[in-house]
Amino acid sequence: ATPTSIMVGTGKAAESGILFKGGEHLERTHKLDAIILDKTGTITKGQPEVTDFSGDQDTLQLLASAEKASEHPLAEAIVNYAVGKKINIHDAEQFEAIPGHGIKAIVEQKEILVGNRKLLNDAQVNTTDFEKDLLTYEEAGKTAMLIAIDQELKGIVAVADTIKETAVEAIQQLKQQNLEVIMLTGDNPTTARAIANQVGIDQVFAGVLPEEKANKIKEVQLQGKMVAMVGDGINDAPALAISDIGIAIGTGTEVAIEAADVTILGGELLLIPKAIKLSKATIRNIR
Ligand code: ADP
Ligand code: MG
Repeated sequence: ATPTSIMVGTGKAAESGILFKGGEHLERTHKLDAIILDKTGTITKGQPEVTDFSGDQDTLQLLASAEKASEHPLAEAIVNYAVGKKINIHDAEQFEAIPGHGIKAIVEQKEILVGNRKLLNDAQVNTTDFEKDLLTYEEAGKTAMLIAIDQELKGIVAVADTIKETAVEAIQQLKQQNLEVIMLTGDNPTTARAIANQVGIDQVFAGVLPEEKANKIKEVQLQGKMVAMVGDGINDAPALAISDIGIAIGTGTEVAIEAADVTILGGELLLIPKAIKLSKATIRNIR
């Protein structure tokens, strides 16, 4: 590989908004076999909005007060919704995030749990009453969260995120480049499947806890494949670091950008097949 052609390649990439940290990453990109994409903030815009809420005013108030302490995009959506409903949001007396599952807070001496089935079931809360609603929301590609107050099931809130306009096209191009395309998410399998279907992804790893995302990359690497990971969040950083090519979404967190080998500006997914094309062209010129 001549240093000059690599330099020209990375320069061309940078002009299009593909920032390689070094020439070796551009060289390696043409060898990829599989690409694993995070769902929230990578395939979707990462700006979820509440679409449905069932529960009384008190439940909404406690829900929003509990979520106010969370930094998760889902929490922001819930707080915005409550503000729009002119709900008086309080400060939580205690707050704990349970990664991949939800949150637990004390507000006005009441214990609030918000999160997925597993979170509530682990706390011995029966979720049967809302099972049907849960499934309806999940099949529509929404993230639904159950709300329990002092161990009692009190409500359900569903949040939807918009798929990026160019996601379908980008994934189609990646498949045409003979890459195996996989979606990776902490969200539940039904919601994940619904989103994957909308963008044309066949393979899904769902319900993956933040600390297990990197293991999923390793699993695919152990099949003898060269793997790229695309992600935006703090919890994607270990997976980005372990992958053969880590691709950070430019609109994502600083931690993800630091852990990655490449950053795509503006989170434009079409820049990923473009990066692969550029890498192949560069290698061809070298040989
Ligand atoms: P992702 O991989 O999509 O970023 P996470 O691993 O952050 O997902 O979260 C997985 C699941 O945990 C969410 O789908 C939701 O059910 C639950 N969860 C996470 N944070 C919160 C929160 N602040 N409030 C309620 N539920 C949450
Ligand atoms: Mg994400």
